[in-house]
Amino acid sequence: MELSLAPLNLPGIEPKRPLIICGPCSAETEEQVMDTARQLYNNGFRIFRGGVWKPRTKPGGFEGNGEKALPWMKRVKEEIGMLTATEVATPAHVELALKYGIDILWIGARTSANPFAVQDIADALKGVDVPVLVKNPVNPDLELWIGALERINGAGIKRLGAIHRGFSSYDKKIYRNLPMWQIPIELRRRIPNMPVICDPSHISGRRDLIAPLCQQAMDLGMDGLMVESHCNPDCAWSDASQQVTPDILEYIINLLVIREEIVTTENITALRHQIDDIDNGLIELLAKRMRISREIGQYKKEHGMTIVQTSRYAEILDKRGAQGSLCGIDANCTRQIFEAIHSESVRQQVEIINK
Ligand code: PEP
Ligand code: MN
Repeated sequence: MELSLAPLNLPGIEPKRPLIICGPCSAETEEQVMDTARQLYNNGFRIFRGGVWKPRTKPGGFEGNGEKALPWMKRVKEEIGMLTATEVATPAHVELALKYGIDILWIGARTSANPFAVQDIADALKGVDVPVLVKNPVNPDLELWIGALERINGAGIKRLGAIHRGFSSYDKKIYRNLPMWQIPIELRRRIPNMPVICDPSHISGRRDLIAPLCQQAMDLGMDGLMVESHCNPDCAWSDASQQVTPDILEYIINLLVIREEIVTTENITALRHQIDDIDNGLIELLAKRMRISREIGQYKKEHGMTIVQTSRYAEILDKRGAQGSLCGIDANCTRQIFEAIHSESVRQQVEIINK
């Protein structure tokens, strides 16, 4: 389906800087909202985010203040002069957010994974002209993401954008949510005129990774950033470890290098980022391989088998060496890599068997 789009028409900080949406994960108290917004405004930021309804993995966490927080967002708009943005997950949220003059709505990752919920929101948006940003679904499914965008666009929302916030994965990893940059890059190829914004906060889950992720997003030609910022991050009621103060955010944004040219194969920084990304992927794959290897260890233990099955080991080294050669990698090098991997697998299985 061809989307019918119009420019978002939202303020960037200045022409050389991207569109930036920032503010706390959750609108916790009136003071926290006003204090954070004032500091952000004074640092040059113009679009304020605040979570009013918070989708939580388990009950019992802070689920947002709901409608009570909407007048605080309204004060940010009227007294400080920032545009406001919040997450909506149901038609009732849409109705309330619009009633209190929220300027930008976004659909969260858990909601965009559910076509029924997205369709309900789309139906509630019929006849309304408001910018809507759709986060990627929690699972790495580009078609589901595009489907959600199509549903919202089908309701007549032309000011549409996407937010890349990474994808959840079972294995241990550096990031809270794997960036899998190839997915937003493919989204841009499929829907070229639609802005794609990166959310480094939910990708990283850690404030020390925000700056490099912002730079990487810019190097990959993303149109903007959504970053969680809180006046007192360590005391935040949700996502404390990934939020930064308004001053730190200003520092991070000032350091960004915004390149004029689109990424080409001549751009060494972009190439290095690709290498970093591939290396991260390699480590994640290795972690996955070790997990399976530990499961095999458990099986061997239960069936009284020895850890090293020599024929299997020889088969792995020979086959991988040959596969490597076919891809232009020296067979010896491939053998060495797999010897090292195998020896770590054995070490992990020994641990399991002796438990
Ligand atoms: C958020 O933006 O605070 C949020 C809950 O994000 P996501 O839907 O990406 O998890
Ligand atoms: Mn959050």
